Amino acid sequence: MQPGPRKPPQLMELSGIGNPQIIRELGIEVRHALPGLGENYLDYFCTGMNWRVKQPVTLNEQTRGLQLAKAVMRYAVTRQGILTLGPGLVHGFVRTREGLAGTDVQYFFMHASYANAAERILDRYPGMTIGVTQLRPQSRGSIHAGTPDPYTGRVIRPNFLAAEEDRRAMVEGMKIARQIFDQPALDAFREREVSPGPDCRTDEDWLAFARANGQTIYHICGTCRMGIDPGSVIDPNLRVNGISNPRIADASIMPTIISGNTQAAVFMIAEKGADLILSEAK
Ligand SMILES: Cc1cc2nc3c(=O)[nH]c(=O)nc-3n(C[C@H](O)[C@H](O)[C@H](O)COP(=O)(O)OP(=O)(O)OC[C@H]3O[C@@H](n4cnc5c(N)ncnc54)[C@H](O)[C@@H]3O)c2cc1C
Repeated sequence: MQPGPRKPPQLMELSGIGNPQIIRELGIEVRHALPGLGENYLDYFCTGMNWRVKQPVTLNEQTRGLQLAKAVMRYAVTRQGILTLGPGLVHGFVRTREGLAGTDVQYFFMHASYANAAERILDRYPGMTIGVTQLRPQSRGSIHAGTPDPYTGRVIRPNFLAAEEDRRAMVEGMKIARQIFDQPALDAFREREVSPGPDCRTDEDWLAFARANGQTIYHICGTCRMGIDPGSVIDPNLRVNGISNPRIADASIMPTIISGNTQAAVFMIAEKGADLILSEAK
């Protein structure tokens, strides 16, 4: 059960809109049946592989002690330096097998490495990381209200790596990442692979590493899917199917996840939603 901001499926289920069985189990009167609401949960799953670096050129040591004090001074005086950078400086896209119409894995490179990713604590030695994420995963999860109380959270089932293709793409994507980091161009920087480390060799090893270390990279969408079929949640004008007034304009309306980071597409959806509302107000 996850606390945090209320998302459209939870708000609607608590209003009696959604899958009738789920709403009844919450003890709420069903006002409008929308069986697809809260299903089709899509997200990007990401694993972080990291290496120890030979030279002190990474954020790990530059964001501590005297180095950090210097960075603060530099930023204050020149508005330059590491405090002006986001952590993900380099992105890449690859095809993990022949015959794919487009790339299916995205990389995020960072000149930093976590000792504890969940608590955002960096390693005390120089390090670098590559985040490996599969684009357009086939696995589908769900998000639903967990209780009738809007403040106690919801039940999220991401269902990461449920589809065979998703497992294959992640394993191949991580293998290619290791090949990239093994290139001579990185000899001057690469000391040794720390995570998953040289003992990770077989597909089973890679998959076990992904399951144990992977996490969301916060590109959740799809749970109020736009469409014209009976299972869709909103229509092409962003209106909730079968109800005239409410509209939804956020990441949840994407029928499928886009091939990359979601923020720009959400801005586009919001702009389109504003246009639709204004055009009807005229
Ligand atoms: C840590 C993180 C890093 C990310 N990095 C990137 C990135 O680098 N590039 C990129 O493209 N995408 C990135 N994303 C993804 C991107 O931010 C999301 O796809 C996008 O913000 C989703 O927009 P949204 O409108 O659907 O939801 P949100 O941005 O979550 O907006 C929902 C809004 O509704 C409000 N709200 C919630 N409940 C209620 C309520 N009951 N009443 C009124 N208001 C309410 C919330 O306060 C919030 O303002 C990142 C996401 C996260 C979490």
